[in-house]
Amino acid sequence: MIKTIFDSYGAPILIGLFIILFIVESKFQLRKRVQGRWKRIFINFIVSIPAFALLRLLFIPVMVWLAVKNETWQIGLNYLFSASDIVKSIIAFLLLDYSNYIWHILLHKLPILWRFHLVHHTDLDLDVSTAFRFHFGEMIASIFFRGAAILLIGASPIIVIIYEIVFEAATQFHHSNTKLPFRLEKVLNYLIVTPRMHGIHHSMIRKETDSNYSVIFSFWDRIHRTVRLNIHQNEIVTGVPSYADDKELTIGMLLKMPFTKVRNWNEEERKVDQDYNELKK
Ligand SMILES: [Zn+2]
Repeated sequence: MIKTIFDSYGAPILIGLFIILFIVESKFQLRKRVQGRWKRIFINFIVSIPAFALLRLLFIPVMVWLAVKNETWQIGLNYLFSASDIVKSIIAFLLLDYSNYIWHILLHKLPILWRFHLVHHTDLDLDVSTAFRFHFGEMIASIFFRGAAILLIGASPIIVIIYEIVFEAATQFHHSNTKLPFRLEKVLNYLIVTPRMHGIHHSMIRKETDSNYSVIFSFWDRIHRTVRLNIHQNEIVTGVPSYADDKELTIGMLLKMPFTKVRNWNEEERKVDQDYNELKK
């Protein structure tokens, strides 16, 4: 099933979408770049290789295996009532996306998870290549949460694979630096997460980062009042303030980052912390 659906259809769709977004964001740029494009692409791709390998060789097989086994175990919401397959598929798809909204909040709020998600947020520009800049540790951690979500929802194997393909496509789309016509984006944003909306989540201003956690559907942020849309894209400075030196953000540093002392959000907080530690000595 993974080979026929994910490899035969999902992978070509995702590669095609990447090429399209890459070309479109070159021609219609939303935010000004602060770094050289090719250097970042190189860094983001190298950092993404272990995460990619884990996604295809571990994450997806485990998710599908759980959903297949669950057809016998029959755990989870969808096994508690009878309805047509289409209704159950819609419920599963929506709830899988809702579980990812919650997972994304946990990535920001739990210090142990932030260590890994930080690597993604230290990108000082935002474009389609940022969609791949995830630390492999985040991929491993997500197996437990997202696996549990599949069981609790009672999602079928086919929906798990389809959701994963749409999830990856949505991630590419909302990270891209594509300038869509404003009105079109506004309409799209009622339903899905768009580049302007997700751009705000990558801001160096803390309260802006602490908003717009949704992945595919934007309404989870509206329902939970974590949505923030009134920020002009030219005003956004992308990244994490205490990791703003691009010379420092090498491939080696990014891969090691979760296993080092994580800095506070901005330098002032960090300075206060250092002074406090000095005083204690
Ligand atoms: Zn985030």
